[in-house]
Formats: sequence, C-alpha cells, structure tokens
Amino acid sequence: RFVTFEGGEGAGKSTQIGLLAARLRDRGEDVVVTREPGGSPDAERLRGIILSGKAKSFGAFAEAALFSAARIDHLSKTIRPALERGAWVLCDRFLDSTRAYQGALGNLDPKVLRAMERVVVGSTVPGLTILLDLPAEIGLQRARQRGQSETLDRFEAEDMDYHRGLRQAFLDIAHAEPERVAVIDGENAPDVVSELVWHAVENRYAM
Ligand code: C5P
Repeated sequence: RFVTFEGGEGAGKSTQIGLLAARLRDRGEDVVVTREPGGSPDAERLRGIILSGKAKSFGAFAEAALFSAARIDHLSKTIRPALERGAWVLCDRFLDSTRAYQGALGNLDPKVLRAMERVVVGSTVPGLTILLDLPAEIGLQRARQRGQSETLDRFEAEDMDYHRGLRQAFLDIAHAEPERVAVIDGENAPDVVSELVWHAVENRYAM
C-alpha cells in the first residue's frame, strides 16, 4: 500500500499526508511518512545538494541521476522494508515529480527517463497517486506566505510559465494513467481535500 502525493508548490501535500497518516493510524494501521528527494539519511544529504541549485547547472540528466541515486537509497532503506512488513507508505513526491520536473520541464528524453525508472524503481510503483491540483498563482502565493525558502530560492520560483507548465505536466500524467492517479482540487479547504483524499484511498484499497 504505497501512496504518493504530487503537485506543484503550495499544493498542500504535507498537510494532506499528515491528515491521512493520522486517519490511518486511528484505525490501527502502521504508517510510514516519507518524502523525496530524501527519505533516508543518505538521500537527505543528496537532497541538500540537489535543492541547493548546484545540480541544475549540471543539466537535466545529471540532475535526474542525482535524484535516482537518492531514490535507490530511499527505496532500499525506507520504502521497501516498510512495504514488506505491511506498513502503509505515504510519500511526498516520487516518480511523477521526476517525470514533470526533469522530464517535461527539463526536457530529459522520455526514453532515458523510462529506462532510469525501470532500473531504479523496478516493480515498486505506487498503487495510488494523489495529485493535488491548483492554479500555479495560488500555489505560489501559499508557498510564499509560508516562507518556503528552500524551494523558493530556486531560480524558477518566480517564473509563472514554468509553474503553469508544471501543473499541465502533472495533469498530462494523470490523464495518461487515470486508474493510478486521482486528481483532487487543492483549492478546497484542507478538511474538504482531506475527505476527497480519504475517498480515493477507500476506493483504491476497498477499506
Ligand atoms: O514542495 P517540495 O518540498 O516537495 O519541494 C521540493 C522541490 O524539489 C520542488 O519544489 C522542486 O523544485 C524540486 N524537485 C525537482 N524534481 C523532482 C522533485 C523535486 O526539481 N523530481
């Protein structure tokens, strides 16, 4: 039971992951909350390098390779052990972020991207992906209010076309795989979004 959360800046992923984790734990479920890039000690160290902005200048392939290195460690140290013991894994960003940021926006060759996915992830693919969708303007405004310097320091932070492209890239992924990806309107109030997330989880896992 591997659930990933995706979306642009300020979409509310961490809030919704927290709410879903609490709801599952109330039912006695074992839940592991994790994130990318990061999610294991070594992958968190790579996160620091990746988000410092230095990785951008290496180009999309090198950046994707760094994300892949972090993901390999995250999968082997955190995700697979949790899934093997029967825990839920709720992950903030995963494959689709790579497809959107490095693929659609970074112009990384889709064939290269798919080959990396096969090698890195293998069969450990999410059973359900929640895409929190909202207009780029609103997401950025929220992120700014929260003072998310780690992400807003990145040079694309103020580029609206970039963020609109990001939203579209995620929606394209969702349209291509509707059975895996549930698109939820992130403009709603957090408790409304949380209900919609719960319905998606109930539907997918017949709870
Ligand atoms: O919003 P969050 O804390 O998940 O932000 C992580 C940041 O990492 C994103 O804003 C994005 O700029 C970057 N990222 C990326 N490629 C990925 C995953 C994340 O560029 N595959």
